[in-house]
Amino acid sequence: MVAGIVTGRLAFVTGAGSGIGRAACQVLSREGATVIAADRNYDQAVETIKKHTSLAHGSNGIGDHSALELDVSDSKAVQNALEQTLKLYKKPPTIVINSAGITRDNWMLKLSEADYDSVLDVNLKGTFLVMQAFARAMTEAAVTSGSIVNISSIVGKYGNIGQTNYCGSKAGVVGMSQAAAKELGKFNIRVNAILPGFINTPIVDTVPEKVKQGILKLVPLGRLGSPVEVAEIITFLSSDKSSFITGAAIDVTGGY
Ligand code: NAP
Repeated sequence: MVAGIVTGRLAFVTGAGSGIGRAACQVLSREGATVIAADRNYDQAVETIKKHTSLAHGSNGIGDHSALELDVSDSKAVQNALEQTLKLYKKPPTIVINSAGITRDNWMLKLSEADYDSVLDVNLKGTFLVMQAFARAMTEAAVTSGSIVNISSIVGKYGNIGQTNYCGSKAGVVGMSQAAAKELGKFNIRVNAILPGFINTPIVDTVPEKVKQGILKLVPLGRLGSPVEVAEIITFLSSDKSSFITGAAIDVTGGY
């Protein structure tokens, strides 16, 4: 069997019950990693492991992979997820993918404070909490290399109507990733952000068809992306193939 580009690595993926997070589990496991699928929806995370990952070892139906229930906006839950992981694998993951994210779209003039807070809590604070806890564990274990990939969005760079809360959170993810890259470089822990364009996952189901068609006209490749197309870049950034890339923010948009 040919070794994959992340063979032997342990990967922790949030938002792993759906869309890009699920595809990340699929491609990372195809490339040899053991994956921990974390999502606030535990059943969906289990489904990711059972139906969408390649089995490296074991005959229990899930190999060495595992699933966890986790709300990334809750610092205690994040700490608990880390502790469960350390107990199960006796080492911290050296690949961390922050894909958990939500939208609560509305015109800025009508946006409630609650919808502002919930989007910032999951997309920005959740990414921070996971990154902080797992990077700390990597430094404490003195790992020789690590890679954190945070999923931002192209609308964090250019803005989008109805998404002041979401665009703010995603712009924040880029700045935060770049700051963390500067701090963690001395430990050989790399931090990069990916800015997907419009990707065919349940999160875009809430976008009205008319708006979707308008967006597609602005995509030179003329289609939505697939979650696997983002997961391939996630896996590349997780692997030693990208060993000199840190603090980068990479568009995966079909040219949008
Ligand atoms: P998705 O299919 O809705 O997947 C997101 C997953 O995250 C869902 O399983 C969701 O659970 C979970 N989640 C939500 N809040 C959570 C929390 N507090 N803790 C843990 N898990 C939580 O969406 P996706 O398209 O894969 O999105 C993945 C990431 O890519 C997000 O950060 C999103 O903002 C970003 N992104 C997506 C696109 C796109 O076009 N699809 C474009 C740019 C950026 P529930 O289903 O229960 O909410």
